[in-house]
Amino acid sequence: MTELIKPKDIQTNNSVVVINWEDGHKSIYGARDLRLRCPCAQCIDEWTGEARLDQNTVPTQVEAVEHMLVGNYAVQFLWSDVHYTGIYTFQVLRALCMCELCSSACQ
Ligand SMILES: [Zn+2]
Ligand SMILES: [Zn+2]
Repeated sequence: MTELIKPKDIQTNNSVVVINWEDGHKSIYGARDLRLRCPCAQCIDEWTGEARLDQNTVPTQVEAVEHMLVGNYAVQFLWSDVHYTGIYTFQVLRALCMCELCSSACQ
């Protein structure tokens, strides 16, 4: 099992979500990008993994209103379109990092 890197600090700042990781890495996500990646059963078909979410139903200006830690492994966000059922594991969040370093690194 690979070591789990945890966020040291999470800031939800309107249209961006900033995560400072304990290994010193910093991830900046667009709120809408994360919202569209919502892993909950309403947005992703649990069996097929197919997206159920109609992206047109998500406002372009969607914001992260609130976040809370789930246990010791994930974060739950409250989005301004009043959706909050998605639980984003640290692993998923880290994998979604869009910084130059991560997008150029091979998985
Ligand atoms: Zn969802
Ligand atoms: Zn990164």
